Amino acid sequence: MVKKQIADFGVQQALRMLRTNPDKAIPRLLDGMDLIARGSMPSQRRTVRATLEDKNSNVYGLLQRGLTEVDPDFFDHLVKTFAIDVSFDGWAKQEAMRKELGCNIPWAILLDPTSACNLHCTGCWAADYGNRLNLSYDDIESIVKQGIELGVHFFIYTGGEPLIRKADIIRLCEAHPDCAFLSFTNGTLVDQEFCNEVKRVKNFVPAFSVEGDRESTDARRGEGVYDKVVAAMKLMHENGLPFGVSCCYTSENFESVSSDAYVDQLIDWGALFVWYFHYMPVGSDANTHLMVTPDQREVMYHTIRRWRVEKPIFPMDFQNDGQFVQGCVAGGRRYLHINAAGDADPCVFIHFSDSNIHEKSLLECLQSPLFMAYHDGQPFNDNHLRPCPMLENPEKLREMIERTGAKSSNLEGEETVEELCSRCDRYAEHWVETADRLWEANHAHADFTH
Ligand code: SF4
Repeated sequence: MVKKQIADFGVQQALRMLRTNPDKAIPRLLDGMDLIARGSMPSQRRTVRATLEDKNSNVYGLLQRGLTEVDPDFFDHLVKTFAIDVSFDGWAKQEAMRKELGCNIPWAILLDPTSACNLHCTGCWAADYGNRLNLSYDDIESIVKQGIELGVHFFIYTGGEPLIRKADIIRLCEAHPDCAFLSFTNGTLVDQEFCNEVKRVKNFVPAFSVEGDRESTDARRGEGVYDKVVAAMKLMHENGLPFGVSCCYTSENFESVSSDAYVDQLIDWGALFVWYFHYMPVGSDANTHLMVTPDQREVMYHTIRRWRVEKPIFPMDFQNDGQFVQGCVAGGRRYLHINAAGDADPCVFIHFSDSNIHEKSLLECLQSPLFMAYHDGQPFNDNHLRPCPMLENPEKLREMIERTGAKSSNLEGEETVEELCSRCDRYAEHWVETADRLWEANHAHADFTH
């Protein structure tokens, strides 16, 4: 406890100094982080140090943006929570638990507070299964408390539209100031009152879905939605609140969302991070033509890496960044997903489950046959550009589901593992050549262990 107070104080001091004398503060902050980390997350710390010490790096630029664009109290509180509680303290406890319990312990928990949504986007399951399912406040509170016991301090809301439950979301932020909460959102429910509440609790960050220009957004999500999302980002920015963007890239929107104009626009709106997700052919109405081609995925691979050097925003690519996390992070290895019915899915894209939080504790879910199959099978491929047991190695998911007897937890309508994986077979086969070439040229001989 005393150690934590000292660490809190040190980070607080360094953050204060950052505003007046960044050149002196950055090395101090980094040394302090090393001390707090006590050896954990070494490769991540090395990357942060290298980029923060380079004044031309995008992280340095991003830090400047955080310091000037985000409310100082909010910024300091969030950095402290994220650096100490979520990352270093949390990580050390998770590591200890992993060893002690012999199963995966996550770094983050994704959960759907509701399956309901106020929009009816083409292709989204929330429109189909509508207003029927919710995790109660007590359910979510219990997941958060059980998570904290295991060292988890980071919770990410998916859905449905999580902000339909914004009163509960704020209440949870308030009850757990040592946790950080992020929410994917369509942005249409953000107003000044909500911004006031977010500013008060200081541990909530939204990621707005922006998947193209006005025309394509409104065609998919409904007339006027694009302008509402832009207005929500503007309001957050005016209030000095941090936010990011999430973007599902497909063969159709690929050109627009991989352009410099798109990312420059996000920076202009005030987004601090952008999280790209590859289109996954999940559900019986999935359209395999929306899956990107190997060439498109390769362009994305290079573009995101270039942006990491050139643009003052933090871009992540869920499917192409496996090198930083040693492959698949699902099944509780770094995260799991709990849907609005309480089913514990290994991944937000893989709706199969053998456990429900209404019947089992979080730890029992992590020790279930399906989660242990993930634990024992990871990494699913030595090439971390082919990390997924569904998308790039569909035979692995088939085997795990058949062996463990996990059932479909797809709320839109049950599908068999064969139906899901057969939509990935061709993609997996086509991606091998590009993935192996990129891996061999850029990563195969790197040392990821330190
Ligand atoms: S299961 Fe696939 S999509 Fe999910 S985290 Fe693992 S690699 Fe990524």
